[in-house]
Amino acid sequence: MSTNFQKCVEDFTCEKCGTAVKGNGYTDHCPNCLTGKHVDNKPGDRAADCGALMTPTHTEYASDFTIHYKCTGCGKKSHVKAAPNDNEEKLFSLLSVKK
Ligand SMILES: [Zn+2]
Ligand SMILES: [Zn+2]
Repeated sequence: MSTNFQKCVEDFTCEKCGTAVKGNGYTDHCPNCLTGKHVDNKPGDRAADCGALMTPTHTEYASDFTIHYKCTGCGKKSHVKAAPNDNEEKLFSLLSVKK
């Protein structure tokens, strides 16, 4: 294992569905129910002090899935790229048909 490259790796338990999520340094949402947590102002900065759950509102698909969120605490909207291990059924079920 290389030690000269550090990422912020954190495991967490999804507060929505209870899935134990293995962090890989990029994990910002639950791969099972896609629920995220409002911890970033900009993706990855962990600078938000809100901490409420981010509910996935819909997804978009171009070459990759993008998941759109709304924070249940402060109402802030954001979006992230889906991770390779995300629940595809869930991604498809939230797919919005718009250009
Ligand atoms: Zn979950
Ligand atoms: Zn928030």
